[in-house]
Amino acid sequence: MRIGIDLGGTKIEALAIDKDGRELVRHRVDTPRDDYRGTIDAMVGLVHRLEAETGTTGSVGAGIPGSISAKTGLVKNANSTWLNGRPLDKDLTAALGRDVRISNDANCFAVSEATDGAAVGSHVVFGVILGTGCGGGVAIDGRVHAGQNGVGGEWGHNPLPWPTEEEYPGPVCYCGKRGCMEMWVSGTGLARDYKQMTGRSRTAREIITDFEAGDKDAAVMVDRWEDRLARGLSNVINTLDPDVIVIGGGASRASHLYESVPKRLASYVFGGEADTTVVQAKFGDSSGVRGAAWLWPMVR
Ligand SMILES: [Zn+2]
Repeated sequence: MRIGIDLGGTKIEALAIDKDGRELVRHRVDTPRDDYRGTIDAMVGLVHRLEAETGTTGSVGAGIPGSISAKTGLVKNANSTWLNGRPLDKDLTAALGRDVRISNDANCFAVSEATDGAAVGSHVVFGVILGTGCGGGVAIDGRVHAGQNGVGGEWGHNPLPWPTEEEYPGPVCYCGKRGCMEMWVSGTGLARDYKQMTGRSRTAREIITDFEAGDKDAAVMVDRWEDRLARGLSNVINTLDPDVIVIGGGASRASHLYESVPKRLASYVFGGEADTTVVQAKFGDSSGVRGAAWLWPMVR
């Protein structure tokens, strides 16, 4: 049995899967915000609950909104800021009395989709989460590629390539830079751009629904959004050239992008050839927690 934990800013979700990835049981609790010890206790409590209900002991993996620095062994880049500067993997390992694997939540997403999701069996998978923010993660042969600095896949903080005059220098990002991909292609970014153009407030989900119903303003916005997505992903292809790009998060339900973005890629990728498969995540919101469980990889 494998247990995955998805440590989010508001909820902690945990699930147990069997060796074939079938879900056995799942629970979620509120995240004890600003309480590091409480967060560990909540994670341990979930593991014990899953094990009591299944009568089995499992391996434990956890996805976190940040990464563990190879240099210091401490969490960094977490928007759940009370985790930053803490040795979460060591503390969780000690609290559970067994080895625990921890990775960035977007890396878990890529691992999930590479293991038994939309990119099953693919060699190199780039996972993109388009939600409130814009995450990215790399899985190679179903395993996390965290990278030397723990930032492998963090394309959300690369600048939007080939900006037009109106796009440069771009909005200020919480990371301190301007014009980051996240500011343009996340659901939040789409909504901000729409507001700027139309003066009206719509969520990304509403804009996508409007677009699908034939609304003209929404069509202009979605067209720009897809083009920015294609520009950003062409940088990923020029750098990593993954076999499959899997898209998850709330904005991944914009089904038009799976036709439009692959067509646009060729005009941006070096050499004009881009046969990369771009697909929607199979497991939706569950990919993060499933991927955390698969940090202990499936043996094929
Ligand atoms: Zn940024």
